[in-house]
Amino acid sequence: MSIERILIAALLGPELARWKAEGRAPVYWWRDDDARAPSPALDRLLELSRRFEAPVTLAAVPDIDLGPLARACEASGGVELAIHGFRHRNRAPEGRPSGEVNDQDHLTDIVAELATAIRAFRRAGVEPRLFVPPWNNAHPTLVKALALHGLELSCYGGMREEDSPARLDAHLDVMRWKPVPRFRGALKFLLRARRQLVERRLKHLWDEPVGLLTHHLDHDEPTWRFLEAFLQAARPTARAALGEAWRMRPAYAAGAKV
Ligand SMILES: [Zn+2]
Repeated sequence: MSIERILIAALLGPELARWKAEGRAPVYWWRDDDARAPSPALDRLLELSRRFEAPVTLAAVPDIDLGPLARACEASGGVELAIHGFRHRNRAPEGRPSGEVNDQDHLTDIVAELATAIRAFRRAGVEPRLFVPPWNNAHPTLVKALALHGLELSCYGGMREEDSPARLDAHLDVMRWKPVPRFRGALKFLLRARRQLVERRLKHLWDEPVGLLTHHLDHDEPTWRFLEAFLQAARPTARAALGEAWRMRPAYAAGAKV
């Protein structure tokens, strides 16, 4: 057994046993960001997805022809494409968090940008359902524009609050980003994963998805090795198969006893 699998079993095993005792298993889903076109790294990602029957939501930037990417994903199977911004270009004023949408933007312009992005996906034969804002920046103007287009939002962070709007987030980033992109480290990743599981168990939010986040273009070898082991253990579910629980959380959480 690989060291990665031993660590996964050691750090998550006892918590998973508590889930099992309640007749439950965590629901994982998987998002990968920053795709534009086929590449050797994408091939590697899709190979893992096929090998472990792990559906993946690939967040793609529609500033080039997405046709080749869409065809590669369709040929592989089990891939959903999501919109990852307009051009993935930072437009934040000096000193503000990076993002594509800022306070000066008018809603009508952002609605039009979004329409252009949706058209780029449709030209590639894809009807997008989910939007992943670059730099995790869900500016209120962007959120309004998404609602007008009927798109759902996916961010990154901790488990969302009970009263937050429906959002399918990622929670577990395999990478760390500063000073340079590299593997986060098995221990750090798994301790965060365990905290996510404990929180769901204590709140009886059994169906609240745990989102794995990857960036195939930035993975170093340790990231690929860990991802291979984690996918084998986590068995993600496709976004479309997650059911309605995550959308209706406030309602079904109301009866939960901590
Ligand atoms: Zn990105």
